[in-house]
Formats: sequence, structure tokens, C-alpha cells
Amino acid sequence: MPRLLVVEDNEESRDGLSRHLRRKGFEVAVAMDGQQGIEAARAGVPDLILMDMSLPILDGWEATRQLKADPATRHIPVIALTAHAMAGDREKALQAGCDEYEAKPVEFARLFAKIQTLLGNSAPTNGDSHG
Ligand code: MN
Repeated sequence: MPRLLVVEDNEESRDGLSRHLRRKGFEVAVAMDGQQGIEAARAGVPDLILMDMSLPILDGWEATRQLKADPATRHIPVIALTAHAMAGDREKALQAGCDEYEAKPVEFARLFAKIQTLLGNSAPTNGDSHG
């Protein structure tokens, strides 16, 4: 089962996203700020990270830069989540080392397609799983 790390400070977004992803068959770990996100990524080495860019302590831009500078975590694909589809945000996310970009509000089907593309063969292909 692919393991995802959701780094999101907003409780409602974090819970909603986690619930959707678990229903799709992912194992989901969560972190509430950028520093926690880095620690969780180093400790658990997830298959993919969903990284909110606007985070306390350490923002998503800086957390992604640090993960991508570390040989132990740089291979983990990161999808940036940003609150507004600001002009230049996509480029900024890619420059920080993010592999993909999704503007909020998250359209789950589109996000799931991006996750599948980045995970390749290890992505779950069937619909809702039990449990
Ligand atoms: Mn946020």
C-alpha cells in the first residue's frame, strides 16, 4: 500500500484530504507544520508528499527545499498545494523542487490523477477500498 504524507496546518483540509486518500487505498501520515513535515519525511520516508505551501514554523517552500537538498529524501515526489492560483506560484513551486502543483480548493479527482502519475506502478488502481 503506497504511503503518503500530508503536510497541512488547516485541520479541516488535512482531515478531508486524509479521509479521501485512505478511501482510495493509501496509507496516510500527517504533519501540521513544515518542521514536522521534514521530520516525518525523514523518519517514515513516504512514497509521496502533499505539501501545503502556507505553513507555520517552516513554510512549504522552505520545507521542500530542505527535503530536496537531503539525499535521504530528495527522491520523494512532492505535490505543492497552494491556497490561491497566484500567477507564478507554479513556477515558484517547481523552483523549490516540487514535482507537481495543485491549487486549492483541491479537486480530488485531478489531484488523484497527479498522484497516480507520480507513483507510477505503485499507485492503487481500483476504487474505494474497504475499511
Ligand atoms: Mn496552510
